[in-house]
Amino acid sequence: MNNPELQRIVDAVRARQRFLVSSHARPDGDSIGSQLAFAYAARALGKDVRIVNRDPASPPLMAFPGVSSIEIADSVSGDFDAAVIMECGDINRPGVAGLDRYFVINIDHHQGNTGYGAINWFEPTAAACGEMVFDLVNALGAPLTREIATHIYLAILTDTGSFHYSSISPRTFEICRQTLDAGVDPVAVARNVYDSNNMGRLKLFGAVLSAMQIDPSGRIAIVYLDHEMARAAGGTYEDTEGLINLPLTVKEIQSVVFFKQNEGEEYRVSMRSKGDIDIAAVARDFGGGGHRNAAGCTVTGPIDALQKTFLDKIEQAIDGRPADR
Ligand code: AMP
Ligand code: MN
Repeated sequence: MNNPELQRIVDAVRARQRFLVSSHARPDGDSIGSQLAFAYAARALGKDVRIVNRDPASPPLMAFPGVSSIEIADSVSGDFDAAVIMECGDINRPGVAGLDRYFVINIDHHQGNTGYGAINWFEPTAAACGEMVFDLVNALGAPLTREIATHIYLAILTDTGSFHYSSISPRTFEICRQTLDAGVDPVAVARNVYDSNNMGRLKLFGAVLSAMQIDPSGRIAIVYLDHEMARAAGGTYEDTEGLINLPLTVKEIQSVVFFKQNEGEEYRVSMRSKGDIDIAAVARDFGGGGHRNAAGCTVTGPIDALQKTFLDKIEQAIDGRPADR
């Protein structure tokens, strides 16, 4: 193996017995898939593994193996030989107190990872953390079972925006190929993830999209949701998963910014972009992070002023990128 960090993780996993696995708050397909792929592989090697996240997986992800066994808590204690933290640029992203007391193994693909672990394996070119976990499963000598392969495919499918983002590489498809060989049903995975709408979700999409605004240049979509709108539409905040990608299906739209009210004037901001437009740089300006085509942050202020500030920044990101492809 020519990757020293991966080798250190393999040695650390082999030498230890009891593992705590965690990932970021409001887990997505990559966090859930990476966690469970590792958990199944470690258990196949005879290890004890508990997964603890601050927030439950969204309903569409509940259909995948092992997801219902994930424990939900905002702090952890107890005897563990290591805490494996997936998909987190810093130690606070999980929103789970107490993780820093353990021997932390940090596995992540986010630009700007702070290196908070005892071992830090960080590959910003991986399209999903699940690609890294695929390597780890192999390096551990664990069999690529159908469960593990399904979680790796789920991680890649969701973190590439169903194969839309520029983070995809030939390796992405090579890994997917191997997961299909291991028995993954890509049609079933896609149906579970993307086609399990309920009526509340569809009505909420309708309400949010009807209120969508477009910037004067016609390239940036601004979407907004507060608690009142969600109540009126009969949907929940969890129901908005995936909504942000819809405006991008319009050819002229280059970027989307989605403001979701937390409380009062605090907003959670999700952003998406096409191609070379680096939306993570915008998120980082506001204390957040993410990837070139998918990023987020949390901000506070009057919504009109916030929208204007983000529009300006996104316009700069669009105009400042390398030549159009
Ligand atoms: P989301 O819009 O919530 O789907 O997030 C898109 C991407 O940005 C994901 O890869 C997140 O991990 C990352 N991200 C979102 N919010 C933050 C944040 N506050 N800090 C760092 N990364 C974030
Ligand atoms: Mn990811």
